[in-house]
Amino acid sequence: MEHKMKFNSIIVRYGEISLKGKNRKSFELKLKSDIEGFLKARGIDFSRVDLRRGRIYIRGIDQVPGLEKIMGVHSYSPALEIERNMEALEREVLFFIPMIADAQSFRVSCQRVDKRFPIKSVDLEQAIGHMLHLKSGTPVKLKDPAMEVHIEIGEDGIFLFGEKIRGYSGMPYGSAGKLVSLVSGGIDSPVATFLMMKRGVEPILLHFELSQEDTQKVIKLKEKLEEYASGREIKLYVIPRDEIFKGKFSGLYNNGRYQPYICVICKHLMHKKAGEIAKQEGALGIITGDNLAQVASQTLKNLFAYQMTSEFPVYSPLISFEKEQTVKIAREIGTYDLSVVKAKGCTPPKNPKTGVSITTFHKILNELGL
Ligand code: ATP
Ligand code: MG
Repeated sequence: MEHKMKFNSIIVRYGEISLKGKNRKSFELKLKSDIEGFLKARGIDFSRVDLRRGRIYIRGIDQVPGLEKIMGVHSYSPALEIERNMEALEREVLFFIPMIADAQSFRVSCQRVDKRFPIKSVDLEQAIGHMLHLKSGTPVKLKDPAMEVHIEIGEDGIFLFGEKIRGYSGMPYGSAGKLVSLVSGGIDSPVATFLMMKRGVEPILLHFELSQEDTQKVIKLKEKLEEYASGREIKLYVIPRDEIFKGKFSGLYNNGRYQPYICVICKHLMHKKAGEIAKQEGALGIITGDNLAQVASQTLKNLFAYQMTSEFPVYSPLISFEKEQTVKIAREIGTYDLSVVKAKGCTPPKNPKTGVSITTFHKILNELGL
């Protein structure tokens, strides 16, 4: 009889969550409900999601595109769940024969999640490996085989699968709390936001509008980031830049004394507004895409100036990154193409101050009544 590979479940593995001691259970339950929410938000039919011994099993489904985008998922495998006995195993594992026959080499890897199963993993690997070899004619190769057949013995059933699809790991979305994220339409801030989301942060996006096209980019970036938000929406505030400058922006920009300080003043005002929104939203800090020494405003002295005047802690996960590293992540998560679209943004001054003294900076802020 011709067998066609038909999966009926998905095994989801999570990494770091399992290390979280007393909080472990709540993290696990959060991830489980995130997966359920993700499936429902996409209208994907499934029968059950179960949490068992360091794994989450989705039943009544054979694939979930995008499951790797749920924060906290270390890897997952579409699998065939069968009865938990040797007869069923020997019969159903034959599903893999056509694939093994097409491969140069293969191996069988067995894991007993439930150690009560009477046959040891190594013995199962040998016995099933030998049988599949005889039936397919394909040689077994333990190191770097072309194909791997996985057998996982669970509590209720046995799971057969061929691949492990990698997720981003990290912590379930929002499990750490909220942060206000300053997003421009650039490459850096969406990546910084993503990296914090990966640690369980729910971001509240805040964009200071410079032009309509610029804001359109940010809306698309928000939608892209939402793919990693376990089916939830991400809030976005858009505020015209002139509003935080109380209409004084052009005046300052065209004033020889103030122009060199304009970037630092601008950052200070952005952080001040971000602080107000953080209070409203119950967020505990601010995310930026700042990167040391990348541009004039990002010297240690300048970062000092506007972080000292920020009421909230500032998290800048890209601070030590090479541009290349940031670009690599941006491409991977799909924000890069959206970020590089040209849009009217800010024009940096001709001679920006790279080393703003905090005394002068305070004096200027006082003079301006900002
Ligand atoms: P990015 O690639 O994120 O635009 P950048 O390399 O252009 O960053 P800056 O322009 O100095 O560097 O901006 C540093 C950070 O300040 C940004 O990563 C972002 O967090 C914040 N920021 C800059 N412009 C805006 C804006 N218009 N609205 C909100 N936040 C902004
Ligand atoms: Mg920028």
